[in-house]
Parts: sequence; C-alpha cells; structure tokens
Amino acid sequence: MPNVRVLPPEIVSKIAAGEIIERPASVIKELMENSFDAQTRSIEIFLKDAGKTLIHIKDSGSGIEKDDLNNIFFRHATSKIRNLDDLSKISSLGFRGEALYSISAIADVILRSKTAGQDTGWEIHLRGGKKLDLRPVSMPTGTELEIKELFFNTPARKKFLKSDTSEMNQVLNTFIPYTFLYPQCRFRLNHQGKDLIDIHPAEKPTERIAEILNLNSKHMIETKKEFPDKKICVRLILGDINISRSRRDMQFVFVNDRPVQSRSFGFHINQTYRLIFPPEKYPFFAAFINLPADEVDVNVHPAKREVKIRHEQAVISLLRAMCETALLSHGQAKQVTISALEKSNATPASWEEAPARSGEKIFESSGPSDFQKELQRQFSLEDVAHWPASPDGRQAPEIHEDFFAQHDENLQKKLKRSRFIGSFIKKFLLFEVDRMLLVVDQHAAQERITFEKLLQQMESGNMEVQHLLSPILIKLSPQEILSWEEGKERLEEVGLTTTQFDNQTIAVHTHPQLIQEPETAVRAILAGEDVARCDYNTIATWACKASIRAGDSLNRQQAEYQREELLKCKDPFTCPHGRPTVIEVSEKFLDKQFLRT
Ligand code: ADP
Ligand code: MG
Repeated sequence: MPNVRVLPPEIVSKIAAGEIIERPASVIKELMENSFDAQTRSIEIFLKDAGKTLIHIKDSGSGIEKDDLNNIFFRHATSKIRNLDDLSKISSLGFRGEALYSISAIADVILRSKTAGQDTGWEIHLRGGKKLDLRPVSMPTGTELEIKELFFNTPARKKFLKSDTSEMNQVLNTFIPYTFLYPQCRFRLNHQGKDLIDIHPAEKPTERIAEILNLNSKHMIETKKEFPDKKICVRLILGDINISRSRRDMQFVFVNDRPVQSRSFGFHINQTYRLIFPPEKYPFFAAFINLPADEVDVNVHPAKREVKIRHEQAVISLLRAMCETALLSHGQAKQVTISALEKSNATPASWEEAPARSGEKIFESSGPSDFQKELQRQFSLEDVAHWPASPDGRQAPEIHEDFFAQHDENLQKKLKRSRFIGSFIKKFLLFEVDRMLLVVDQHAAQERITFEKLLQQMESGNMEVQHLLSPILIKLSPQEILSWEEGKERLEEVGLTTTQFDNQTIAVHTHPQLIQEPETAVRAILAGEDVARCDYNTIATWACKASIRAGDSLNRQQAEYQREELLKCKDPFTCPHGRPTVIEVSEKFLDKQFLRT
C-alpha cells in the first residue's frame, strides 16, 4: 500500500475548480451571481470565442474594498456568511467563497473594483492562482473582471470544451434565466463584437421575458399564490396554447431566486399542459417558487444547479393546482379533469401533511388510465363505468403486462389482413383480426411514414419542396438565431431555404412538401445542438416530430391507405421517437377487465 499523502495546494485548487468550473458558462454563472449579490443594476459581458479566450464582465454593484482584494481569492473567502446559523438561511446567491478561488486557479484573471467610498479603483492580476500585481486604476463604482485563457493549466479540461456554438448555447442558457429574475437590471451580452442581447430595465417580468425570447406577452398567463404567514410565494408565467415548441427549451424554474434544474417540477407542469396540448408539444413556462430558506438546501450541487426541497410533494401539488386553474380558466383548454388534481387544492393548512403522490406516470401523454377511459367510451358499455377499485383506492385497475401484447413477427401480416372497424376520437384507428383488436396511433404512424419518406429524400438529394409565394416570417430567440447562423446551409440541404429578415427574424422561402408546419419544423431543428453537423436521421426526426398535425378524422379509405403506407416502412411499429405505432389488445385482456374468467 503506497503512503498516504496530503495533496499540495496547487492540485487541490485545480480539483476544486473542476467541480465548479466546467466551461465558460460556469464562469459566467458565478460572476453574474457575484454581481447580483453586490446589488448591481447592470451587467455587461463581452466574450471572445464563446468565452474560451476571453470573458469580460462589468457590473455597477457595490464594489470591493481595496483591503479585501487580497483575500477574496482565497478558498472559502466570502463576505456572505459568517457562522453555521447563516448557512441554514442563505439569501445570497454565493456563500461558499469558492468561485474566485477556483477561477483564478485555472485562468488568467484581472479584477478591477471601486466602492463608492473610494476615490480610485484597484486592479489585481492573478494567473494560475498566483498574485502578480495590484495597482490603482480610474473607473466608475462597480466591479469588472477579465478572465483569459480559461483552463490554460488544465489541458484535460480544455479538451472537453465543445464547439463555440455549443458553448455559446450553454452561455445563453445560463445568462437568460437571470434576465427574468432581475427585470429591473440592464443586460448586455456581446460575442465577437456583436450584441446578442442588449436590453434595458423592464417594468414587468412578462415584458422582459417576451423581449428576450421574442414571444408575445399577450400569450402569457400570470398567476400567483402567496401564503405570507408561511413565507411561501409561487408565481407562474405560463405560455398559452399559442406558444408551443417541440422541445422543452423554453421552460424555466427558479427556487428562491435561483435558476434551478428541477426535473420533477418541470415534469409536473408539463403534465398539466396535457390538458391543452397534444403529445410532443411543449409549452413555455417560468415558475418562480419562493420558500422559507430552511425548506431548501442549496448545498447539494457544486454549482448549485440543483436544490433539495423538504416538502417537495406539497410544492408539486400547489404547482399543479395553480397551473390547471390558470390553463382551464384561460378559455383555451379542452374540458378535462385529472382526479389527482382535484385533491391537490393545496392550502396553507395542508402544507405540512400534503400527501406524497406515489406511482407517477412515466409517460406524459396518454397514460394507461386515459386509455382505459377511451376503451370504455369506445365500447360504450355503461356497466364498466365502475371499475373495481384497486388496492390503492384508485378507480382504474392495474394495467397488466399482456395489455400490450407482444409484437410477434406476425404483426405485419395481421395488420395487413385486418379489417378496419372504426376510428376513435380522431386519434386511433381500430382494426380487427383473429379476435384481436389492433389499435393504430394515427399520429405516431403518420410520423413514421413521413420520417422514412423525408429521410429517403434527404439522402437521395431529391427533396420535393414547396416554394412559398410569400415567405413565412419566424421570430427567433437569441439561441435560435445563433443556431440558425451556424446551421442555415444545413437547413437548405433539407429543403428549408431561409434568409435573414431582420435581427431577430428569419424568412422561410421553401419547405419540404411532406412537412405541414414549416415554422415548427424550423424551430425544432434550431433547438438542437450543432445543427450544422447533425446527421439527416436526426434532422428528419426533429422535422417530422414537429410537423405532423394531429386529429384529422380519417375515413375508411384514408385509414386503409395509412395502413398500406405504414406497412411499406422499414420499421413500421415504432414512431421515430420510439413510441409504438400499433398495439394489440387481446380478447383475453378485455375479458379480464370485465371479470369474465
Ligand atoms: P462567494 O460569492 O461565495 O462569497 P466568491 O469567490 O464568488 O465567493 O466571491 C468572494 C467574495 O468576493 C464575495 O463574498 C464578495 O465579497 C466579493 N465579490 C466577488 N465579486 C464581487 C462583485 N462583482 N462585486 C462585489 N463584491 C464581489
Ligand atoms: Mg460567488
């Protein structure tokens, strides 16, 4: 066994830096947080090569005293907490005193700062954690940092950096949420001498959001619930049915004024949107959740991207209830009720004992219980209205594995021989064969068909395109603009000819004939990373995911035609995203449901 050694400080600092600073976006996050903690009213960031060679940030915050300049780069040097008690009620964004220490360990750093009380500012220069210089400079009150040569002494890290576009995407994903949190602050983000974002203080968060994401604030619903005695406040800004995306790229969650990645909050809000959205369409939303500091642990992730919440289930119930009420009362929704939501009218009284809901569905769209309801309606049998209650008290019985009968190699043949017996809610086509019900998901099947045709045309270079007399104008978000600049040639190769219309808008002149909704397809493709280098398969998946309309009612001929087209596909029984296009429901399964043994 080799001798145990304590690592020298140079190595320790690099390890620590690796936990917090993964890429330029992480530097930007830490530095922006410092500026907000210093009450800045303005943040300007200038980047070269997506921040790999230079990150220059300026704020107009409180500044740092000259005497503190020598200390702030030490590990755990912070002005924000003093004792253990402070740690349990953190109100600042930073508190661990690790950011400046970590950044200076792996880059060349110049920090200039001046407080209102000082006549002059001071500049300190560090490289690889070593202090090189401290001298006076003239500057306005505030703080300015120049981070050069990120990862110059940690080549392994440097190798992990992605293309400039992809790093810039991360920068925007980091930067944008803060602009929502601080609408009264001025923001500028400049890359290679060009302003990507330059916005002035806004009155209201909705205005700010609309401006940054290039959305219409008319299409946003605002709702708020506050329980002052419990120090709980939840504010939701929800896009209505007019803002729909094929990916979850316009969804923001904040906990105690901190952007967080919360799979579970996001998941539940998306699920509530199934009330008004078809599957595979995702809304815009921003959820600002404020809880008592001791309900939230921000110390679970090195970069504080994730937080732990003590009564998470209660927050979820509240979110779902608020979301449902807002969406349904906004008049855009179809009438639906979700039984889980009925009991989730979370009030302050039920806060502590809000029930943990177990067994959440994994699929966001039609889960089995929907399906059962649908079957129930299809066969319009009054006496199945009362499903035998299952042990957990829920109405619907468990779905047995043989519900989705195995697709054997005969499915192809069976489908070919089957007889069309009707369609159900413009969503499913029903075929009968050998005492077996085949249910075709019309939308998924169409996606598979379109996908294979589209891919075939892309690969052969024989794209059938539609020329538009008047172009479709699409307003893009900063991320989308960036992605478009990189990927426009690729778009053209796949039949989407686009030109720049103004700073934030592009014009679409042609689109593949197979695509019904070119705007959605363009957005779906632009939401992807590295569009320019994507393969056709991926692009076709995105394009057709986005642009198949749901809900056309098909007559017998059309249904049979769709079946023929589906059977011509190489891979007919899954849609391009892996969901089934056809399922078999056996007589045995139905008998079981009716308690006929
Ligand atoms: P933390 O934010 O966790 O305290 P940092 O390493 O990020 O640790 O910063 C160390 C200290 O430097 C902060 O506590 C703060 O006092 C000071 N500081 C850093 N950036 C700024 C800034 N932009 N304006 C004012 N003070 C700053
Ligand atoms: Mg900090």
